[in-house]
Amino acid sequence: MTTGKEKRAGGSQSARAGKPKAKDKDVHTMKRFQSSESQRRYSRQMRDKGKRIGFVPTLGALHEGHLALIRKARSQGDIVVVSIFVNPLQFGPGEDYDRYPRDLARDMDLARENGVDAIFVPEVAEMYPPEFAAKISMGPMTEKMCGASRPGHFDGVCTVVMKLLGVVQPHRLYLGRKDAQQLRILERMIEDLNLDVKVTACPTVREKDGLAVSSRNVVLSKAHREQAPRLYAALRLAQREILVEHVRDPQMLTRKMREHIESGSEIDIEYIAVIDPETFEDLPTLTGRVLIAVAARLGDVRLIDNIQINVPGGRMAEGFATGRTPRPSGR
Ligand code: AMP
Repeated sequence: MTTGKEKRAGGSQSARAGKPKAKDKDVHTMKRFQSSESQRRYSRQMRDKGKRIGFVPTLGALHEGHLALIRKARSQGDIVVVSIFVNPLQFGPGEDYDRYPRDLARDMDLARENGVDAIFVPEVAEMYPPEFAAKISMGPMTEKMCGASRPGHFDGVCTVVMKLLGVVQPHRLYLGRKDAQQLRILERMIEDLNLDVKVTACPTVREKDGLAVSSRNVVLSKAHREQAPRLYAALRLAQREILVEHVRDPQMLTRKMREHIESGSEIDIEYIAVIDPETFEDLPTLTGRVLIAVAARLGDVRLIDNIQINVPGGRMAEGFATGRTPRPSGR
């Protein structure tokens, strides 16, 4: 049954102007829900049929990073739900909420082409009616790194994800390692609140030149786009310093990274963090699993990136290959 707020988003109606119409038999049917109630009803029906639901929450402006999450969800479950919601709670004053790229028609095409079963696209008023009062707060781990320059950002992320999990009721949640701090905080939230959902963390998808794919890359000026790959180059440099030159001093590492990023560029580094990936504590010396994360501004655009390294001779971590460099994957 279709409610007033529920739309059928499949068939041969291509939402992208000028795109040739595909033959009906080739087109995957995708449902579109705008109300929490209709999305939840669909999810319940799917669960009642024994279907495993994978969920990919996004801000939209879908790109290869999002599509990798969608494909992973496809490969692991029966039903893939994607949400597209530019969440005002996670943007601070003066941030790019208004400028954030929005193109629902294109996103719907991409989602459908990649086998998404249902897309949840609520309005702000649907998510946050005037009486809305809840707030998830995850404490000190939300105040460092990205949280230091974006106060309230992770509370906004946690609150919306908590709400989306309540609506979509997935078995699995798909998150990108590109947002390493967000991933860890959401894993903590799920553990702390005993939520019945498993997290699948997906590797960072990169452009051919190593730049982590991001919705914000397209708004970089030409000059800044040319400089932006330095962030990943600096992370690779750090990896080489640790694995080949046996550097164990985090300060020496951050100094070298800083020099590499800043020399002759207009990149304004916000932070370089060399930390324990679980606790985000600073490391006096490099041992075991190490997360190296960077945030920087190029003009108005803020970019983040990170890698994880297993430092040889330290405690080994599950699930991470020693010293393996994430290979740049283009699109
Ligand atoms: P966003 O729309 O930016 O909030 O991202 C939605 C999800 O996609 C988050 O779990 C991100 O970590 C993930 N994501 C964004 N960019 C990438 C990327 N380049 N590679 C892998 N995952 C990504």
